[in-house]
Amino acid sequence: MWWWRSGEEGAGEVSEGCHHAFIGMGSNLGDRRTFLKEASLEIGSHPQLRVIRLSSLYETEPVGYLDQGWFLNQVMEIETTLTPEELLTFLQGIENKLGRKRLIRWGPRVIDLDILLYGNRTIETPKLIIPHPRMYERGFVMIPLQEIAPDLVHPDGKTTREHLDMLMKTEKVEKIRLFQG
Ligand code: ADP
Ligand code: MG
Repeated sequence: MWWWRSGEEGAGEVSEGCHHAFIGMGSNLGDRRTFLKEASLEIGSHPQLRVIRLSSLYETEPVGYLDQGWFLNQVMEIETTLTPEELLTFLQGIENKLGRKRLIRWGPRVIDLDILLYGNRTIETPKLIIPHPRMYERGFVMIPLQEIAPDLVHPDGKTTREHLDMLMKTEKVEKIRLFQG
């Protein structure tokens, strides 16, 4: 396994044992845009990881615990030689570093980093479920994902587009708009 850093982009290039993965990012406290930017930079700084694409920013009405501000959401595609467990630990380190406090489940947070997909893998352990268990019912995940990977085939054989079409038919999609800020 090997990789190199190409100075300017700070990007690691990864060969064998390399997997495409998608990360869902969200923030609804403080300077949300800066938290997302910081998280992206931290993620991209890992030598075993390369950022491939970032979606636009989307602003989303909160779900679950409603007494909180609107979220800013974004989805990132990466390529990495980290295992899914290593990737989760790395992302949780970034959440902690950026000051996330786990006070209320689905409550306000400066940053939430979820592994949405990891290659074509299906994982179900007490710590980690992939595909992310709630992603197919969340417009704020599926809409940015459709922007950067509409034809991606998911572990169940359906594409992002097909999943989003199914979600739209349920009419349960939370309010979401492109963030112009
Ligand atoms: P949510 O992301 O649904 O709002 P939390 O971020 O508070 O909820 O949940 C964190 C917990 O979810 C972590 O302890 C982690 O072990 C678990 N988890 C399970 N699957 C995943 C995944 N695919 N990505 C991130 N965390 C996950
Ligand atoms: Mg999370």
